[in-house]
Amino acid sequence: MSDQTAELQLFRDNVRRFMQTEIAPDYEQWDKEEIFPREVWNKMGDQGLLAVDVPEQYGGYGTSFHFSMIIMEEIQRANCSGLAGSVAIHSDIVAHYIVNHGTEEQKQRYLPKMVSGEIVAALAMTEPGAGSDLQGIRTYAKKDGDEFVINGSKTFITNGQHCDLVVVVAKTNLEAPGSRGTTLFLLDTSTPGFQRGRNLEKIGMHASDTSELFFEDVRVPASAVLGNVDAGFGVMMSELQRERLTLAVGAVAAAENVLEETKTYVKERKAFGQDIASFQNTKFRMAEMATDIRIHRSFVDECIAKFETGDLDVATVSMAKYSTSEMQGRVADGCLQLHGGYGYMREYGVARAYVDARIQRIYGGTTEIMKELISREVLK
Ligand SMILES: Cc1cc2nc3c(=O)[nH]c(=O)nc-3n(C[C@H](O)[C@H](O)[C@H](O)COP(=O)(O)OP(=O)(O)OC[C@H]3O[C@@H](n4cnc5c(N)ncnc54)[C@H](O)[C@@H]3O)c2cc1C
Repeated sequence: MSDQTAELQLFRDNVRRFMQTEIAPDYEQWDKEEIFPREVWNKMGDQGLLAVDVPEQYGGYGTSFHFSMIIMEEIQRANCSGLAGSVAIHSDIVAHYIVNHGTEEQKQRYLPKMVSGEIVAALAMTEPGAGSDLQGIRTYAKKDGDEFVINGSKTFITNGQHCDLVVVVAKTNLEAPGSRGTTLFLLDTSTPGFQRGRNLEKIGMHASDTSELFFEDVRVPASAVLGNVDAGFGVMMSELQRERLTLAVGAVAAAENVLEETKTYVKERKAFGQDIASFQNTKFRMAEMATDIRIHRSFVDECIAKFETGDLDVATVSMAKYSTSEMQGRVADGCLQLHGGYGYMREYGVARAYVDARIQRIYGGTTEIMKELISREVLK
């Protein structure tokens, strides 16, 4: 993403400095511990790096979307995809669910603390039996007077260990067909009956906590409903553009970073008496990957411009999410190959970039689901 103004450039420099001094030095250790410390959220909040485009009256900085994407890019550029995933859920998804669909009371209650890092947010859609097909969720919120009683479970929830607030997707009408009869709830994790499962062991994105969540007779007031009762799918659909665009922006930045690291490596590493960089295969692979990234950067920049004017349609953002995440996977794989055996060692950044890239084709809607959505437009 190009920084058209000095203000954006200055902001990028600040985020980059923060990543270099406060995050990158400890990140490998957090990756090993499979969770970054809770204080990282407070540090990011103190530095003004969370939910920056929340309006000022709710504690935010009222910036444009660009600023939030600069944060995403710089986290990826530091090869900290796990942190990027966690921050995206908090700042780019849940915060905007509340900004765009919350009541005044909900906005006042949650947003300032999300900006400061006092509250960490999670979004709980996926269940053991329902991921791509969210219409199949079984978590049920039964109306009981002025309250709802939630029972069920969720899995693969990013920020599951650290979260203080969970947006829970639950059925409220078991008779309603398809996507109708689903409601979103803002749940404080101190509510009795809520329980976190263990921190799940993943093959990548280690520093990001991912968990099962359990709800047993969890009572919430009607004021916890986000949006309208039985209209949760509408809220989720209206926020998907931003969610998928954020993933696409991150994918391009992550690919740029791993290519940059590889450039340095192939110039230093020698085989058969010459730099790896001097082999024709290396030159061609580097040229192919640089081209692949460049094409996707222009496409994503076009999507950002469309998003800012409200013109980003479902098919286009699905193309961006699908093609950038596939490209990120190709580039990470190609870069690892050029590192030889060292690329397979965890101490090399390319190894982390490779395992972290894999999830991008799955979460936020799988590649196959993106193709489904694109095909509807292509074949209409
Ligand atoms: C690290 C991580 C973090 C996550 N974070 C969150 C989170 O914070 N909140 C949350 O709610 N969820 C989260 N998820 C869940 C994620 O969004 C789901 O894993 C994803 O949507 C896919 O669902 P599934 O795993 O049930 O796969 P399934 O839906 O079972 O899919 C299995 C395979 O079938 C394919 N498939 C399914 N339907 C179709 C179809 N109609 N046509 C063709 N192919 C199809 C899929 O593409 C996939 O290849 C996370 C997952 C991971 C691994």
